[in-house]
Amino acid sequence: MIAGHFGFAAAVKSRERQVPLWSLMLATVWLDIVFTPLFLAHIETITAAPGTTRGYGSAIIHADYTHALLGTIVLAATFGLVAGWRWSSRTGIVLALVVFSHWVLDLIVHRPDLPLLPGNAGNFPRFGLGLWRHPVAAMLIEVAIVVAGAILYWRAARETASSSSVSLQRRAHLAGILVLVCGLAVLAMDFTGIFG
Ligand SMILES: [Zn+2]
Repeated sequence: MIAGHFGFAAAVKSRERQVPLWSLMLATVWLDIVFTPLFLAHIETITAAPGTTRGYGSAIIHADYTHALLGTIVLAATFGLVAGWRWSSRTGIVLALVVFSHWVLDLIVHRPDLPLLPGNAGNFPRFGLGLWRHPVAAMLIEVAIVVAGAILYWRAARETASSSSVSLQRRAHLAGILVLVCGLAVLAMDFTGIFG
C-alpha cells in the first residue's frame, strides 16, 4: 500500500491543521523510507507470493526490521520525539501516531509477513490479514481512502482560506486538487505494476 497512506495523512491534516502537510506525508511513509536503504542493502527483501505474477498486491515483503511491530514503535517514537522537540508535543504525538498508522494499514493488506520483533527474533507468528489476496477489494479500499482523504483535506483547506484573499483561496483549491491528483496518480502507477 502506498497511496492509501498518503490519503490517510491528508485526512489527518484536515483535523490537525497545525501539523505541516509535508511532515504528515513524510511520517505516513516513514517505514517505507527507512526500508529503502535496507532493501538496497538486501537486508530487507521483497518476493512474489506463491502463485502470483508481479503486480499490485502480489508481494511478500520481508521488512523484518522496519515493519516489525516493535521496530515500528521505535521508528514512530523517534519520529515523534524529533517532531515534538521541533514543533510541539501535540504535533509530535500526532506524527508518531501517523508513523504507526502505516503498520495498521499495512496489516490489513499484507499477507502474514509482518513480524512482532525485529529480525523476527523468537520466530513468533507473523501478522497480516492478507487483503492483497483479493486485489480488487484492496484497490477499492485504497481508492476510498485516497478520495476521502483528499475531500477532507480540500474542505479544510477551503475553510481555512475562506476569510483570506482570493489568491489564498485559489491556492487552497489548487492544493486540494493536487492532493487528489497525486494520490490517484500513485494509485494508477501501483495498480499497473510500475512499483511492482
Ligand atoms: Zn510499508
